[in-house]
Amino acid sequence: MELAELIGLRPVPAGGVLVTLTRRCPLRCSHCSTGSGPLVREEPEAAALERFVSSFTAADRPEVMMLTGGEPLLRPGLVASLARSARAAGTRTALVSGMFFARSCGLPAPVRRAVRTLDHFSASLDLPHEREVPRAAVFRAVREIRELGVAVSFHLTGTGEDDAYLADVTADIDRSFGGTVPSLVNEVRPFGRAASWARPARTVPDGEGALPCAMAAWPVVAFDGTVLACCNQDTVDRRPVPPHLLLGHVAEDDWSAVRARSLGSPLLRLVRTVGPAHLRQRWSPGTPAGSYCGDCRLLAGLPEVVAAADSLASGAAGALLDLTAARRQHGQGPVALVRRHGCAAYAGLVAAPGGGRDPRPATEGAGS
Ligand code: SF4
Ligand code: SF4
Repeated sequence: MELAELIGLRPVPAGGVLVTLTRRCPLRCSHCSTGSGPLVREEPEAAALERFVSSFTAADRPEVMMLTGGEPLLRPGLVASLARSARAAGTRTALVSGMFFARSCGLPAPVRRAVRTLDHFSASLDLPHEREVPRAAVFRAVREIRELGVAVSFHLTGTGEDDAYLADVTADIDRSFGGTVPSLVNEVRPFGRAASWARPARTVPDGEGALPCAMAAWPVVAFDGTVLACCNQDTVDRRPVPPHLLLGHVAEDDWSAVRARSLGSPLLRLVRTVGPAHLRQRWSPGTPAGSYCGDCRLLAGLPEVVAAADSLASGAAGALLDLTAARRQHGQGPVALVRRHGCAAYAGLVAAPGGGRDPRPATEGAGS
């Protein structure tokens, strides 16, 4: 499964599920917004996760399950069992890693066994990561993973399109992998790598119009097993969860219940269709503007907005509205989605020309 297909599915409601396996991480990146580190212990119970994933069926399943953290490969046995269980229902599995294991020579056996069960592997790389794990070691490990037959990509983070680091690392990846490995490039914002893959859009000034939230499409399993409507870091971390962003818990709910709640919520349908800023401006104009996600977190407490959502987006008409918006965004493709949610200047890198196949001879290491 290539990165472009994965990102292309991001606006499809319940087209994927994002599962955080642990908040633990052997690294201590200075920009880590999940507060991950070697001594942190918070993680969902393996049995609850396995039960939840085993509820996927051929007829009712996400297309893709994205495993993240913290560092998901600290639980390699769980990665493998979840990926196998998901595959039995037809769901493909992707994983994003901070690459702690690249510091050793060759893939450690448990990591190798886990990686073999994946359909896509993405390596995080940015300046704080490179202070923990050298770029050359990450490149070497990514090559080894690709030789196992797993599609690979990089998840890069920088300060914006003028960031010299991004210019350097993208050129280095291009040189070192012959233009065959795609990258997703994000900008550093108050949300960290656990948000993964794409970030909520920026603050929307009044009068800007509709700006749909594609991040409200995939349910997210948080570190405590709570299932949320999106990967916004405040939503992942803060309790209580605003009612419209709460979809259940892996210890109690199966995929079918979570999917039904996500697809059936009138408020979430409108967040996915027109975005939270538009809802606030249109139906609660007296409420002061906040950030894009700040606006969203308030929505369930604004009676005028809730009433408008019930009247406009309930029933079959609301489902059709949601489906139409998702199809439009899906049809615009992964590059357009990254332009909106990631670093626009590098959006084209989400689809590497070679699609991971037939690489030209690769050079070894960073800066080569
Ligand atoms: S940013 Fe990622 S790799 Fe770095 S400490 Fe946080 S979870 Fe670990
Ligand atoms: S808080 Fe709302 S707007 Fe922000 S990512 Fe979540 S669903 Fe989207």
